[in-house]
Amino acid sequence: MTVSADLQSRQKAAVAGGVGTRGIFAHKALNAELWDVDGRRFVDFAAGIAVNNTGHRHPAVMRAVAEQAEHFTHTCFHVAPYEGYVRLAERLNAMAPTGAENRTMLVTTGAEAVENAVKIARAHTGRAGVIAFSGAFHGRTMLGMALTGKVMPYKKNFGPFPADIYHAPFPNPYLGFSTEEAIDGLERLFAADVDPERIAAFIVEPVQGEGGFNVAPKEFLVHLRAVADKYGIVLIADEIQAGMARTGRMFGFEHAGVKPDMITMAKGLAGGFPLSAVTGKAEIMNAAHPGGLGGTYAGNPLSVAAANAVLDVIDDEKLCERAAEVGRRITERLSAIASRQGMEHIGDVRGPGAMVAFELVEDRQTKTAAPALTARIVAEAEARGLILLSCGTRFNVIRLLPPLTIEWEVLEEGLTILEASIEAAFSDAPASAAA
Ligand code: PMP
Repeated sequence: MTVSADLQSRQKAAVAGGVGTRGIFAHKALNAELWDVDGRRFVDFAAGIAVNNTGHRHPAVMRAVAEQAEHFTHTCFHVAPYEGYVRLAERLNAMAPTGAENRTMLVTTGAEAVENAVKIARAHTGRAGVIAFSGAFHGRTMLGMALTGKVMPYKKNFGPFPADIYHAPFPNPYLGFSTEEAIDGLERLFAADVDPERIAAFIVEPVQGEGGFNVAPKEFLVHLRAVADKYGIVLIADEIQAGMARTGRMFGFEHAGVKPDMITMAKGLAGGFPLSAVTGKAEIMNAAHPGGLGGTYAGNPLSVAAANAVLDVIDDEKLCERAAEVGRRITERLSAIASRQGMEHIGDVRGPGAMVAFELVEDRQTKTAAPALTARIVAEAEARGLILLSCGTRFNVIRLLPPLTIEWEVLEEGLTILEASIEAAFSDAPASAAA
């Protein structure tokens, strides 16, 4: 029996069944490579779900954390604050593209950042309503689930959820759902369900992550900005997956040139340490009363030290530019694969910077989703030593999220394994689907 198989059976006997996992038990990881407990090596195109943008165990991040651990690991910021938190807030304030003076608060997970952004928007506006979008993902807390626009696996059996949360449609040009139709959907929501003057916030991902790497069209974000301005609604950019240089800019919203009022960050912010942030306009962020925000572990010193180092690395190693180049190489390779004969199940290749995904369909005309084929590619890749993640409301999208620091040879190696995995999965596909 392999060590992995033994651990799998121990996991089954010890860990709650709802905690979904796959077969890879990690032993060690470095930059874009991961070794499992049986010594198998993997190229990592998941980066812990867009967390290790700076790679596994970046030396600068490791050094900063080790140094911090020599001083203290926890005081609780509310009890004995520390300089690293203040410095990180100063830096995030300076980089968040709101066009105004900013303030920041730190918490621990993405969902918590989302919760706090909504709390603050409610305190600022004195309103309750929040509008999120179909296909969105905002976390697994009760409010996070309420805001999430995908039932399986996130919401099923877990309600009821907090009230006053609405979903408007998100554009999907690939499936023929235009920005104009999405805007109509929002107008219908205002006409049928809720007065816009009762809405505290819009929350929107610049590129939907779990939803399938659906890029928010520029005109859509411009429209949301205009509606937000018209009714005094706070525009929250959920940059938890798209942020921190992943898309080739520090924040995904920057591609559209639209200024959000608040930004949620997590994942890539602290290079593998749990940390999230809400940064937004000072007049909004300061609306919550003293004592209303925070938490025991909020802004943990080790995570904060990691985040300050991550921001240095993004700067020093020009990771925005590198993300663009990583994405260019991935897109070029995927487009070449998709254009080959026999590759008609690849319906679309999309995404900015190093946030690229491809969508699997039964055929390019009907665009019927091919979720089983998607799962087969992920399994073929895993067997060949490549970690891939799927996503999408139709479970038929494969997203590529390598560290932005990935060595070029390792990126090429991963793409070669990906190509072989796609070929193997397609050759197994039923004849009817291969047309
Ligand atoms: N928002 C977005 C856009 C996300 O991608 C995620 C995580 N996938 C979250 C929120 C929730 O983050 P966490 O899992 O850290 O709570």
